[in-house]
Amino acid sequence: MTFWEKLYIPAIAKGMAITFKHIFRKKPTINYPEKTRPFSPVFRGVQVLNRDEEGRERCTACGLCAVACPAEAITMEAAERLPGEENLYREEKYAVKYEINMLRCIFCGLCEEACPKDAVYLSETMVPSNYNRKTFVYSKQELLIPNPLTDPEAFAKAKGARPEKTL
Ligand code: SF4
Ligand code: SF4
Repeated sequence: MTFWEKLYIPAIAKGMAITFKHIFRKKPTINYPEKTRPFSPVFRGVQVLNRDEEGRERCTACGLCAVACPAEAITMEAAERLPGEENLYREEKYAVKYEINMLRCIFCGLCEEACPKDAVYLSETMVPSNYNRKTFVYSKQELLIPNPLTDPEAFAKAKGARPEKTL
C-alpha cells in the first residue's frame, strides 16, 4: 500500500463523491403498492375467464389450456349444460370447476394461445400479494369476468383495451 492508500482519504473522498452524486438524482424506486410503474404493452397478468356479449360463459371445459400449461397450474371439472341453462353457458359442456394455481403459473400465455373459444386470457392486472398460500389458488368465481349485461362498467374495466378474438 502507498502512503495515500494507507490514509484511506482518497477512497473516502471517492465514496462521498458517489454518495453526493446520487443525492440529487431522481429516485429509481417507487412507493409500491400506492404507485405502480407503467407496464409493457405485452405485460401478462392474472387470467380472466371470458364471457360472450350475452354474458354467457365461453369456456367449454375442453381441457386444452390445461394440456398446454407447462406448469400444470390449471385444473377443471366439466359438466353438461342442462335445458334452461342456455343463457348461462355458451356451449353444451361447461366448466363447473376451474382453478388456476398462481404459485405455479409462469404467465407464459400458452393457455390463452391454446383456447379455441377465447375463453381465457391474461389481463393487465397483477396478482396481488398475500401471506397465505391457499389464496393463490384462484377459483372459477374469482377468475370470471363480470357479466356485461348486469355490470357493463366492471366488464369494460376488466376487459381493458383487449380486442375480441375472431373465432
Ligand atoms: S400462463 Fe402459462 S403457466 Fe400460467 S396457467 Fe397459462 S399456460 Fe399455465
Ligand atoms: S379455457 Fe378454453 S381451452 Fe381451457 S377448457 Fe375452457 S374452452 Fe378449453
